Amino acid sequence: MKITIENLSMVYPNGKTALDQISCTLESPNLIGLLGPNGAGKSTLMKLLTAALVPTSGRILVDGEPLLKHEQQLKQQLGYLPQAFGLYDELTIWQFLDYMAALKQINQPAKAIEQVIRDTNLNAKRKSRISSLSGGERQRVGIAQAMLDDPQFLILDEPTVGLDPKERLDFRNLFSKKAQDRLVLLSTHIIDDVQSVCNQLIVIDHGRILFIGTPAQLIASARGHVALFNDQPVSDKIHITARINTAEGIQCRGVAENMPADSMLVEPTLEDAYMYLIQYKGA
Ligand code: ADP
Repeated sequence: MKITIENLSMVYPNGKTALDQISCTLESPNLIGLLGPNGAGKSTLMKLLTAALVPTSGRILVDGEPLLKHEQQLKQQLGYLPQAFGLYDELTIWQFLDYMAALKQINQPAKAIEQVIRDTNLNAKRKSRISSLSGGERQRVGIAQAMLDDPQFLILDEPTVGLDPKERLDFRNLFSKKAQDRLVLLSTHIIDDVQSVCNQLIVIDHGRILFIGTPAQLIASARGHVALFNDQPVSDKIHITARINTAEGIQCRGVAENMPADSMLVEPTLEDAYMYLIQYKGA
């Protein structure tokens, strides 16, 4: 599957420009991380990709065909976890997934439901009412419905919100496994979520693409712009990313466009590189 995004813009009726002429290509198999601060336009892009919104201008092609012309066909191949996901509290997990399977017109619903219940580790809770679930369990039900019938294109808007560290790790591995032979687009502002599993990153801010490439390329772009300081740096042109209390006093880590000549430069982490990009290359 190949998704081509061409000069896509979205201006909401209140005049807010959420996306400003973005272009990129998403091609399977791939696990693509969509990163950006709150309000960057990530959810808007995802809604446009599911045809839940119609763009103000530009277009999306799916394998060369306009998305809006083949909306119904694409929806059969699509799994979507929106950010604000309403669950039906009075239903059990099984009943809810059965309802979602009916909406998606899945041929063998019981088989599909069993599979996602296993994948999301919800077997012990299958007969529990959704109202009785914890935040993390509810999120897992949201992921389960997105994965019903093993869609070719999975769009997950902040899927790890509310999950504990072990659950986050399990899901990262599951998404990575799924992406071996399909397209998974995952939005997050948690760098850890994309660090180990995504082979492509798209960073957006203020509705524009700031970076497309591999995590290694993003890290490379910040070399020479990250340093450690054995005190609070005096220059206000250095953006502090960490302040660590050590036995010897405070040690700071910072990013800057131009580091002072005597700075103790260090190899950037993905988080440093992301901060550098947003801070110095953004709008
Ligand atoms: P993100 O998912 O990166 O946090 P969004 O796509 O939700 O960003 O939002 C991008 C921008 O569009 C924000 O400024 C947000 O306030 C605005 N926005 C989102 N939805 C609407 C809407 N329905 N009407 C007006 N503005 C919106």
